[in-house]
Amino acid sequence: MNLSKAEFIISAASPKDFIRDGLPQIVFAGRSNVGKSSVINCLLNRRNFARVGNSPGKTANINYFLIDETVYIVDLPGYGYAKVSEAEKARWGRLMESYFTQSGLITAGVMIVDSRHKPTADDVAMADWFKQAGCPLVVVANKSDKAKKSELDASLELIRNTLDLRDDDVLFSFSAEKKINRDLLVRHIDRLAYGEDTN
Ligand code: GDP
Repeated sequence: MNLSKAEFIISAASPKDFIRDGLPQIVFAGRSNVGKSSVINCLLNRRNFARVGNSPGKTANINYFLIDETVYIVDLPGYGYAKVSEAEKARWGRLMESYFTQSGLITAGVMIVDSRHKPTADDVAMADWFKQAGCPLVVVANKSDKAKKSELDASLELIRNTLDLRDDDVLFSFSAEKKINRDLLVRHIDRLAYGEDTN
């Protein structure tokens, strides 16, 4: 990605809006407030492109951003916000079910988790969606600027074990705020979207 162009394309509220043009789709998922919008903005070197601080649990749509006219960044609605109504949770579940079961839509998953905490049951379920769809996974342990250095390695180990990551799945610490490991994330997306070597 040279990131010279980033455009918002559509906010998909139902399967009829899903984009099926064959371009790679790199799918971002994470708990509400984990910093998913911040990671996307950091990646794209843009401020407030993906909306930071959206009231948690609102707008359970799938947002598509087209990068360099060659790859989609797909922003899944955040999950795990306690105050969401049962009806909204059910809608989220149906939307995920249709997105993940339509074969060939997802190229790879980028899951954002908190570098300081054990992944939640919702995180585990999300990782399973990607695994069941046979997608490669990059797990970004965000907010590492707030983590104690001495605890980070053990935390990453706990994340890898709790999400039961496969050998080929990638996990690294990250900070959207301090732009830590941004280049590493760009390289992995290049690898997944365009098949480019990360070395
Ligand atoms: P989203 O709901 O997952 O999209 O989360 P947001 O991107 O809106 O971020 C939620 C909150 O976490 C905001 O207050 C961000 O400023 C903060 N945040 C996001 N990433 C980081 C990070 O790497 N470090 C720190 N310290 N705060 C972060």
